Amino acid sequence: MWFNLFYMLKWRLILLIVFTALTIKTNAQNYPQNYFRYPLDSLPSLVSPFGGLRDNHFHSGMDLRTNQREGLPVFASADGYVSRIKIQSIGYGKAIYLDHPNGYTTVYGHLQKYSGKIAEWIQNYQYKNQTFEFDYVFEKPILLVKKGDTIGLSGNSGGSSGPHVHFEIRNTKSEKIINPALFGIIPFDTLNPIIKNVFVYNFVPDGLLLKQVLKINNQSIISTNNPNQFIYKKALELPAEMYGFGIEAYDYIHNPEDEKGIYEYSLKNKNKLAFRHTLNQFAFDESKFINAHIDYPFYKAAKTRIQKCFIDDGNEFSSYQSNSLKGKVLVTKKTRDTLVFEIKDFNQNKFILLVPIVGVAFKINKDKQDYLKLVKEKKVFYPFKKNIVKTDEFLFELDAKSIYDTVFCDLGALKPIQEPALSIIYSVYSPSASFHKAANIAIKPFSVYLEYQNKLLLAYYFKDRKDFRSAGGNFENGFVRGKASNFGHYFVTMDTIAPTIKQVFINTEEALGDSLHFYFEIKDNFSGIGKYEGYLNGEWILLDFDAKSNMLTYHFDKIWYNLVAQNKDSKLKNTAIIKPEVLIRVTDKKGNVAEKTFNMPIAFE
Ligand SMILES: [Zn+2]
Repeated sequence: MWFNLFYMLKWRLILLIVFTALTIKTNAQNYPQNYFRYPLDSLPSLVSPFGGLRDNHFHSGMDLRTNQREGLPVFASADGYVSRIKIQSIGYGKAIYLDHPNGYTTVYGHLQKYSGKIAEWIQNYQYKNQTFEFDYVFEKPILLVKKGDTIGLSGNSGGSSGPHVHFEIRNTKSEKIINPALFGIIPFDTLNPIIKNVFVYNFVPDGLLLKQVLKINNQSIISTNNPNQFIYKKALELPAEMYGFGIEAYDYIHNPEDEKGIYEYSLKNKNKLAFRHTLNQFAFDESKFINAHIDYPFYKAAKTRIQKCFIDDGNEFSSYQSNSLKGKVLVTKKTRDTLVFEIKDFNQNKFILLVPIVGVAFKINKDKQDYLKLVKEKKVFYPFKKNIVKTDEFLFELDAKSIYDTVFCDLGALKPIQEPALSIIYSVYSPSASFHKAANIAIKPFSVYLEYQNKLLLAYYFKDRKDFRSAGGNFENGFVRGKASNFGHYFVTMDTIAPTIKQVFINTEEALGDSLHFYFEIKDNFSGIGKYEGYLNGEWILLDFDAKSNMLTYHFDKIWYNLVAQNKDSKLKNTAIIKPEVLIRVTDKKGNVAEKTFNMPIAFE
């Protein structure tokens, strides 16, 4: 009888293990394996993995390595058709979207150029609509591709900070972005991720107080039987209170020095899961939760991203799993527990850190008291309702769910008012918070400036009023109205200065490349480039614009070669040569126009 019971239990256990293993496997098997090929002619190699922590967003794709080079062929990852072409001087630069019959879309960004029929279609569209930048969604399949077809060449266009291909897989219907690793696009990786620091927090109404930092290194930890598991040597003594924990952690893929984002991390206490974050998929409108996911003020101050092991009230990022305390850890004076931090990369390389904690009697927390005194005089904004500040000269509106937590804010007018402010300087300031959605802001300019109303816009100071930036906006019914995407010190100013245009000659091999071209550098002092146009002897020409380098490029195309052909003709017929003249016109966002004509050499044949 006893034997039988034991036998049964044993079988149950085995079944449970098999079942668990199956469920884990099915997770990846929900996604077709080997359907999508790696879009470059090499083994998978990543500059940056899916979900990496970026300014104001999680990385929505994988950045594929092109060895600091441009011009590598980029292949269609599977059969399908071109469903969208988007060209921007920022962002993804020259991008292409392919829809596949299995319900997924692949996206390829920062291309140098497009290939074949796709390139032809695009150039026609650009000349017809006289625009370089556009976003076109195909209603039906016109441009079909086969798996492995070259769709373009890799580049560095848009907001890219070095040559690479940005690659995404999305669910076509929901547009959710999915980790390409789930489809089997995985680089070879045997290096373990590591936790560098553990951060201990106290909670206060406006967020967090950093209490302690545990440095994780050979002196502070000891190894265990499990080669991936370590114990923090000294038990952490914590006065009875609620705590939050954060980690600074990195993964390494190809190079033990090159820090990348981790795929998954979790915290257990009392042997149960308290919090887990896994980067399998997310929606674009969730991406800004990054500022609630990390300790944002710490990042602002120290440029290090601490990932929290708990969830703020206003943080609705969908990839979290947590207990009822949302990952927070309640310590009483009787607590004797071990916290388990576990981090993982996609290849199941792991780092597990055990931190013993011992609760002691409650102590008055001096930092917390000082903090509470400080916030007493501040204006309070709440995350789940609309927050409005309104006076005769100022309006500030923050929709519900625009902030992640209660925010205590400095509110008022800053003095002295001086150049470049053409209004009172309004402060809506908190160093610890960021916006999930931009706020509506309106400020009344001093009446003497009303005659310049078309040139007025909003600006904000950053870094102790030493420097300021444009926040855009337009004059409307007595106010300059715009959007504020940060807490800050806002005022009205104006822009009456036109952009500058200069021809530049770049003589690198890459610049000469396979096609001839002219370069122009265009810059604006404040409101930013609004519009740019070029004409060759009166005819509109296509100019590529790269915002990060301020560079306009004219690649010689049919307009140029027509002119050259005409001149060849006129040589034969002994008629006058047509001198090529390029006119460049650039308008800033406040309508200030610059125009310049350049005489071009003819001997480019
Ligand atoms: Zn990318």
